[in-house]
Amino acid sequence: MQRILIVEDEDGLRRALSINLRARGYEVETAATAAAALRIAAGGRIDLMILDLGLPDLDGGEVIAGVRGWSSVPIIVLSARDSQAQKVKALDAGADDYVTKPFGMDELLARIRATQRRADHLDGAESAVVETAAFRLDLAAKRAEREGVVVRLTPTEWQLVEVLLRHRGHLVSSAQLLAEVWGPGYEKETNYLRVYFAQLRRKLEPEPRHPRYFITEPGIGYRFEG
Ligand code: CA
Repeated sequence: MQRILIVEDEDGLRRALSINLRARGYEVETAATAAAALRIAAGGRIDLMILDLGLPDLDGGEVIAGVRGWSSVPIIVLSARDSQAQKVKALDAGADDYVTKPFGMDELLARIRATQRRADHLDGAESAVVETAAFRLDLAAKRAEREGVVVRLTPTEWQLVEVLLRHRGHLVSSAQLLAEVWGPGYEKETNYLRVYFAQLRRKLEPEPRHPRYFITEPGIGYRFEG
């Protein structure tokens, strides 16, 4: 059974999350403060953490940084609607994904499943070949095929694909992508990403204007779904 730690200081929301997750077969622990969250997480019996960024004692970002010092447990953050900067900070501190308040239970459950899939994927042997219904990417051979036809990707496009695939199903902030592919100092050049993702979609997506695999989260970053 998967054990989820819910960190939320709002009593009503904490209780609702707890009831809903238990009803779905998860084992649930709860904390209303950052201090309690860190104590429970340090016990090491948590498979996933749902973390509200606005806590009374410490900023959620500090909780992430603390946990990341010794654990790779998946973390999904809950954040207020108009706090892009806070979300980006949380992702850069090592959160795996975020859900914006107010959110539906279905959305949160989908994020939990996606995050767990990614964690399982990282536990298993990494494969260099990614196959979707639309295309096949062999990262070792640097060979891309769409519907059986070879597609040429530039070295920069391959690098972008590799970074996203290392974080498969997981949101990667624009700053992280830029830093990993272009290097430090390029974190603000988000126009590069727009240009390169437009190219990648034209080459690989069945409907480049309605991407199914290379997804943009406006103002935040990108994710690979597939
Ligand atoms: Ca709060």
